Amino acid sequence: MIHVVHHPAYVTAAPARSTYRWGKNGLIRDLLRAEGAGIAWHEPAPMPVRWLEQAHDPDYVAEVLAADVPAAKTRRIGFPITPEVAARAAAVPGGTYLAARLAMEHGFAANTAGGSHHALHDTGAGYCVFNDLAVAAIRLVEEGTVARLLIVDVDVHQGDGTAALTAGRPEIATYSIHAEKNFPARKARSTLDVPLADGIGDDAYLETLERTLAPLVAEVRPQLVLYQGGVDPYAGDRLGRLSLSLSGLARRERLVASLLAGVPIACTVGGGYGDDALAIARRHVDVILNLGHSIAGTREAVGA
Ligand SMILES: [Zn+2]
Repeated sequence: MIHVVHHPAYVTAAPARSTYRWGKNGLIRDLLRAEGAGIAWHEPAPMPVRWLEQAHDPDYVAEVLAADVPAAKTRRIGFPITPEVAARAAAVPGGTYLAARLAMEHGFAANTAGGSHHALHDTGAGYCVFNDLAVAAIRLVEEGTVARLLIVDVDVHQGDGTAALTAGRPEIATYSIHAEKNFPARKARSTLDVPLADGIGDDAYLETLERTLAPLVAEVRPQLVLYQGGVDPYAGDRLGRLSLSLSGLARRERLVASLLAGVPIACTVGGGYGDDALAIARRHVDVILNLGHSIAGTREAVGA
């Protein structure tokens, strides 16, 4: 049984003048629905404003929630904030938070949206409005759910917003493995950054992931991991610069599950770009299923 968090507000019509391809979250929901009884569904409450404001500038939070975002910030985000997009932006961090609470209980849970790792303190950026990873992480440590938390970001782009928003919080560690020459041009400093050269393939990627993540997990000893499971390291991705195969992505999730054995994992979606929205949704669903099944196998093996 895999616990999945979804909110109807995740599925919004594309606002006008959007360069972002909408519809991915509805396709992810549909593909997971096809899994039938293997999925337990949960609907989150929107993230309360006061928790959004722990990570973001209150003025920016108010601009988004009123769907009244200045043009310069709209350009940075990549799509206009309509009332529907604002409702989605508040629901997604609530979903990542609920996935984390469910992971603490069941070992693994996934949000069908989120991983908005480029959102910064006073603006969104790169198709990200609120940083659900940072917002959820800050709430989880401040309310005492966990004392030590690790955000593992395997999206092809650096988790710059997440690193910036959680800097100076010793309870939250951040790991980002990404294509060095990709967006954002100006990188932030994660607890551990692993920049990769263009074109790296499965074996070198997986060897680097294991060599760098394993010691960080041993050092941080996280009680919970928030996973940004972007599928844009895939060779066919429009915005990636790496060359992972589909089987390489599957091996990535199995490796992460084994390196984090015994640590609850809450998975978010992250990036994945191209013309075939259904194929991209399939890759995101495979991340959720591969992680979920690997973790269920590990828990059965140790009798948890
Ligand atoms: Zn990305």
